[in-house]
Amino acid sequence: MKSSKDLLTDRFGRTVTSLRISLTNRCNLDCIYCHSEGDEGARDEMTVEMIAQIVNTAAKFGVKKVKFSGGEPLLRKDFEDILRALPQLKDVSVTTNGVLLKSRAHTLKEAGLDRVNVSLDTLDPEKYAYITHGRPEDLNEVLEGIEAAIDAGLTPVKINMVLLKGINENEIDDMLEFVRRHSGDLVLQIIQVMDFRDGAQYNLDAEKIEKELERHADEIKMRKMHHRKSYIIDGAEVEFVRPIENAEFCANCNRLRITADGKLKPCLLVNNNLIDFTNAEPEELPELLRTSIERRIPFYMDSGKERIIEKRTIIGDRENGS
Ligand code: SAM
Repeated sequence: MKSSKDLLTDRFGRTVTSLRISLTNRCNLDCIYCHSEGDEGARDEMTVEMIAQIVNTAAKFGVKKVKFSGGEPLLRKDFEDILRALPQLKDVSVTTNGVLLKSRAHTLKEAGLDRVNVSLDTLDPEKYAYITHGRPEDLNEVLEGIEAAIDAGLTPVKINMVLLKGINENEIDDMLEFVRRHSGDLVLQIIQVMDFRDGAQYNLDAEKIEKELERHADEIKMRKMHHRKSYIIDGAEVEFVRPIENAEFCANCNRLRITADGKLKPCLLVNNNLIDFTNAEPEELPELLRTSIERRIPFYMDSGKERIIEKRTIIGDRENGS
């Protein structure tokens, strides 16, 4: 067994400091591009105790941050119980579509949630319904959810906008204005669409858009997580997340994923290396964590280096449900 210091460091020198935990595969929306955290199949969901145990173990070895995702995590009625069962951490956040956020924002904050990311690709109700297969009226619920999150102090609220060619590429300025109106409480996070479901057809020239942001920025900051840049444009903060063919993104990845049914998942895009911990005794968890860290391989290696994983095969595996 390795020492606690390097238990969570992989052979590429990347130390895991953050967990991304899927709470359910159920969702109340059905977005046209959704990757479902690479975890569509399973129906089983971890209990509060299982989640608390794995986070407790990871925290003992240096994990400081937890992000909950899904499916739609707010469909878990026991989300507040999950939050209350966690150890002391530096940052606990959730990514939600926001439809159910309004009535939960304050109880989630009281239960220990620090921040929230709300997925919002458009401010146009018809486009919203097209993208999410929801109702145009759901957009209003999301906007009210964002206000409630600000009111509850779940700030800064990050607005996750997946950029979609031919759908919302002309809405960046409107989104920046929306963020600006909430002076300092909102951050826009523009995300390059990844090749899931119909995702590929909506991909656009991310580099060109990032250059535009750079050109208009009054200030540029660099985040540790994935080496993402953040731009301040006329008082609005915007980050650009470019996960595709981005060796730097992988080289600076410090997160380990956990599937809704209780498997350690070293990479969003890889499904043949998961480790089930649902039947493990608490004292076995460090060794399972270590094994999953050993299986962490940067999906996009530097060009010229060996490509250990063939992308198409892995994504194909996912579609076959393996
Ligand atoms: N239902 C929650 C939500 O809407 O935030 C959590 C799950 S959702 C899978 C988590 C995040 O992944 C969302 O911000 C969503 O926009 C993003 N996402 C989903 N599919 C994606 C894709 N193909 N490419 C890029 N981002 C994607």
